[in-house]
Amino acid sequence: MQSSNHRLRDMEQHHPLLSAGSDVESGSLSADVMVGGPHAHAAGNRTLWFIQDSCGMVCASITWFLVLYAEFVVNFVMLLPSKNFWYSLLNGAAFNSLAVLALASHLRTMLTDPGAVPKGNATKEYMESLQLKPGEVIYKCPKCCSIKPERAHHCSICKRCIRKMDHHCPWVNNCVGEKNQRFFVLFTMYIALISAHALALSGMHFFSCIKVQWNECSDFSPGVSVLLLIFLCLEAILFLTFTAVMFGTQIHSICNDETEIERLKNEKPTWERRMRWDGMKAVFGSPPSVLWCNPFTGLRLRRLLLLTQGRRGGSEFSV
Ligand SMILES: [Zn+2]
Ligand SMILES: [Zn+2]
Repeated sequence: MQSSNHRLRDMEQHHPLLSAGSDVESGSLSADVMVGGPHAHAAGNRTLWFIQDSCGMVCASITWFLVLYAEFVVNFVMLLPSKNFWYSLLNGAAFNSLAVLALASHLRTMLTDPGAVPKGNATKEYMESLQLKPGEVIYKCPKCCSIKPERAHHCSICKRCIRKMDHHCPWVNNCVGEKNQRFFVLFTMYIALISAHALALSGMHFFSCIKVQWNECSDFSPGVSVLLLIFLCLEAILFLTFTAVMFGTQIHSICNDETEIERLKNEKPTWERRMRWDGMKAVFGSPPSVLWCNPFTGLRLRRLLLLTQGRRGGSEFSV
């Protein structure tokens, strides 16, 4: 099979036939090994995925700050000063557990490779190894010089082609794609839940404090307490709306086996669509269980520690 029989096109710019080997970064042919981009830190022969985008890093830090702010107000302004022990204990356990799950989902979304295509693999040797049939069309991304699989799109922030790219989200400082979409869905779900919980707690706190005219209602002065609570309510309303809409959109996309980019571009599906539960199983793994809500799934703590210490032989945490 000769490579001259292969037509290699760019999906977006429709480049002519590729002169294989030209315009290709050298020495990076690797089909099955995850290759970190210029923004990924190498550790041994594996990588920890982290996008060094200043806007994304600021937005991700703001997300953490806002969740920790909500934790502070809920725990120190509302629950700890409360005289009802069981009310404080049960609500504190529920709110703090959901907040930990939200932050863990955020970290997993941010630090998981979203499905990056090996960079610069559009070489003559690699194309020949694909054993393509005459007339079979494959696509090359001119920006990262990789062979673009079906449903992959190039992200200008990650500077990589991402499999089943849904969108790039600065709040998680990463692309949402084939391998981290489940964590992103969990992130939106847990943020929506803690926002709703914070709103309910704030409402009850206002109601009970007004009854006693803010006497012994909180360790803070009434003015400071009201300001902290008002800001928490505004934050919770904003994030509840935003994440609930995003969660619904994501579940709808998964159940229709269609990414946000495909929906916006109105692409006709050339792939076999996995609808409803099959779509959910493809993203969350099967069979359906409460483990779908677990953001720690597939996390190997010992290997993660080895990876962060940069020891050779450490493996990236699997998805
Ligand atoms: Zn690309
Ligand atoms: Zn991206």
